[in-house]
Amino acid sequence: MQIDKHSVVTLHYTLKDNDGNVLDESSDGSFCYLHGENNIIPGLENALTGKASGDELSVSVPPEEGYGMHDAERTQSVPRHMFPPEHEIEPGMQFQAEGPEGQSLLVTVVKVEDDTVTVDGNHPLAGVQLIFDVKIIEVRAANEEEIEHGHVHGPGGHHH
Ligand code: ZN
Repeated sequence: MQIDKHSVVTLHYTLKDNDGNVLDESSDGSFCYLHGENNIIPGLENALTGKASGDELSVSVPPEEGYGMHDAERTQSVPRHMFPPEHEIEPGMQFQAEGPEGQSLLVTVVKVEDDTVTVDGNHPLAGVQLIFDVKIIEVRAANEEEIEHGHVHGPGGHHH
């Protein structure tokens, strides 16, 4: 069976950057998603269309088809006292912050100086060329409920 809209796809993946550093990999050995519902980044989803179980592929996804370009305007300096005083603040830490329209925003600490912390509201993988090594384990048709919900149920999917 080939991957098409509303296939349920189970795969192994390893995600690397252009320098070969491993950024992420499928936890518990596999990852399962509903194809054609924007559940994964567009560059990877497009490359998987038409593939079948057993196929192995390496996909290079540019930032525009991944997590977007890095926007310097989403970096800002905030006073140290805005952070919990009991915690040591270090680069790489992530916090929930409030965006300009009141939305929840994940920010990453990029620099800590005396009384100032610089945070970046871009996705941690914004601006990164993403290399996915993928092995497709299983492809099946989604059931009606899965299509209605836009995600996979059962093993590797939502339980509710
Ligand atoms: Zn559901």
